[in-house]
Amino acid sequence: MKRYFIDLHTHSTASDGTDNPATLVRRAAAQGLAAVALTDHDCIDGLDEAAAEAARCGIRFIRGIEIAANYDNEEVHLLGLWMPDPSAAMQQALKRMRSNRKERNDRILDALERIGLPVSAEEVCSLSSGGPVGRPHIALAMKNRGYVHNRREAFIRYIGNEGRAFVPRVLMDAEEGIALLRGEGALVALAHPCLYRNMNRQKLDRMLENLAPQGLHALEVYHSSHTQEQVRICVSLADKYGLLLSGGSDYHGRNKANINLGTGLRGNVRVPLYVLEKMEAFRREKGLLL
Ligand code: AMP
Ligand code: FE
Ligand code: FE
Ligand code: ZN
Repeated sequence: MKRYFIDLHTHSTASDGTDNPATLVRRAAAQGLAAVALTDHDCIDGLDEAAAEAARCGIRFIRGIEIAANYDNEEVHLLGLWMPDPSAAMQQALKRMRSNRKERNDRILDALERIGLPVSAEEVCSLSSGGPVGRPHIALAMKNRGYVHNRREAFIRYIGNEGRAFVPRVLMDAEEGIALLRGEGALVALAHPCLYRNMNRQKLDRMLENLAPQGLHALEVYHSSHTQEQVRICVSLADKYGLLLSGGSDYHGRNKANINLGTGLRGNVRVPLYVLEKMEAFRREKGLLL
């Protein structure tokens, strides 16, 4: 049977998803997807396991990553697709992201302690599976301590962007992030563009006007968070700036239980195979690895 759909944005236990990389790939194959990319936050540790499983299941696998960067004082996310084994520069950048995270986590824990909600760094670390430790793990530790009913409440009241114990993360600039990923030979997409603060057509237009000349290749037009109207706006702006289309569910397993692999939120994401074929044609033309 010919397979027609793909998912180019997913998270495993190597960051904040709940499926291990092999399970995630097996699920994607069982769903009948033609291809899947693993794009863990600031982390490439799951890629080898996922690639090996994909070879067994007969599904195309694209090695990816999702890195956070600063654009105009806001955290934005960049997807790198076709990530090779990391260069020395990439290894160093990944190390720096981890140490920035560690410092930030410690500051959040200090802030929680000050408001009478102590959580130890050991507790938080024990909740991660060895990948980057972040707020999702802090939120879980808070739930385990009985400070909040669920993780959502931890974010809303304490550690989310508007919370009392929020501390921003030190991030590289988007321009630097694009250059870093391009330096690896990866294809760079701006992730979930409509999730950013006060996003509208005009703001996204300006953002792409800046980022396209910096080497952004693609725009994630299909995403669980996008309405049909937002998809239309994204497609037309991608066209305006000569960007490839990208798309994925942003699957996180049980950590975002309503988002399904390959199909998003109640079936609102269906990424056609030709999105991948266009990317491949582009890479072939540029002599980039496939
Ligand atoms: P961090 O990378 O440490 O800044 O944490 C960001 C991660 O926290 C995101 O990737 C989400 O998975 C998760 N997250 C962010 N906001 C919320 C929220 N309101 N409720 C639950 N999880 C969230
Ligand atoms: Fe996440
Ligand atoms: Fe993201
Ligand atoms: Zn993501």
